[in-house]
Amino acid sequence: MKGYAMLGIGRTGWIEKDRPVCGPLDAIVHPIAVSPCTSDVHTVWEGAIGDRHDMILGHEAVGEVVEVGAMVRDFQVGDKVIVPAITPDWGALASQAGYSMHSGGMLAGWKFSNFKDGVFAEYFHVNEADANLAHLPEGVNPVDAVMLSDMVPTGFHGVELADVQFGDDVCVIGIGPVGLMSVAAAALRGAAKLFAVGSRKVCADAALAYGATEILNYRNGDIAQQVLDKTGGRGVDRVIIAGGNAEETFGQAIRMLKPGGRIGNVNYLGSGDNVLIPRAEWGCGMGHKTIAGGLMPGGRLRMEKLVALLENGRLDTSRLITHRFNGFEHMEEALMLMKDKPRDLIKPVVIL
Ligand code: NDP
Ligand code: ZN
Repeated sequence: MKGYAMLGIGRTGWIEKDRPVCGPLDAIVHPIAVSPCTSDVHTVWEGAIGDRHDMILGHEAVGEVVEVGAMVRDFQVGDKVIVPAITPDWGALASQAGYSMHSGGMLAGWKFSNFKDGVFAEYFHVNEADANLAHLPEGVNPVDAVMLSDMVPTGFHGVELADVQFGDDVCVIGIGPVGLMSVAAAALRGAAKLFAVGSRKVCADAALAYGATEILNYRNGDIAQQVLDKTGGRGVDRVIIAGGNAEETFGQAIRMLKPGGRIGNVNYLGSGDNVLIPRAEWGCGMGHKTIAGGLMPGGRLRMEKLVALLENGRLDTSRLITHRFNGFEHMEEALMLMKDKPRDLIKPVVIL
């Protein structure tokens, strides 16, 4: 079969590989629609997970089941499925402890385009199909549903990590597709003031549509100061970090946060040795300013709940998809868009 792969750091291309083998609990899926991710860009061009050779990229897909293992109960050949980016081992102790994304080691629930071939292929393998796949409901557009693989669960997880409550003032730093889903989730959770930080108009317009009450541009000066100015110096109750960097952004998040507040980070810190936390603004270690960071949870139950938001008109992911391509031959073009981030881009989808 053909797959679009990372050949080595900074290099991608088409390769030929054997079709993956289906274990008794597993499924083999043929993609219907896929999307490249900023994480693919970190992987290839920043070497964020180390060097990988001839590893098929991609972890965001909706597809059709073409084979199931003998012990799979709830999926059959021909079923249309949403494939979460994170596919844990559900029997692992980490999963039993509630942290399935770390089953097999820290972050090891992330398998596609990390430890095994990803979804930019004619066929890909899904471990523990009954626990890791979700049925695509009738009436949900498969292209919109690709946003459920990673963008929705990650953005929503930022809001879970920050524990947004009714009436909280919230700031979402970064409004690419992940941060936009944090904005949508914070609005669903009942945020009062909802600041969204980004510089591109297409993202700012989407953030307002998803419920942001005000857009702040990080290119116009320190965002912590901007938030403090707009809140009478009080700051916000919750911050979600979905963009920025390890040197500057955490300091800004701490500075704009009230004592007792929480930061939920879902941004992938792909470079540098340390995250900088400003001592005094962190209350000299006693400010009750909590920082939580997490990889999105996987799992069928969660995916079924998230797709129910689309089914019931609570969330419209179509707004994230600014570029649509028909045919696998456009895979490279779509990935390069993610790398170059033109000003009109939120997310590309390749429809097969
Ligand atoms: P994008 O690159 O599309 O968006 C990044 C956002 O951050 C943009 O709005 C950008 O603004 C903004 N930004 C850039 N620099 C700064 C800065 N210095 N201060 C404030 N804002 C800034 O990324 P995605 O939305 O695709 O992904 C966000 C992150 O989430 C990535 O690091 C990705 O790897 C990670 N991720 C994490 C997952 C998890 O499970 N935890 C899963 C999937 C992704 P603009 O472009 O408008 O100038
Ligand atoms: Zn992704």
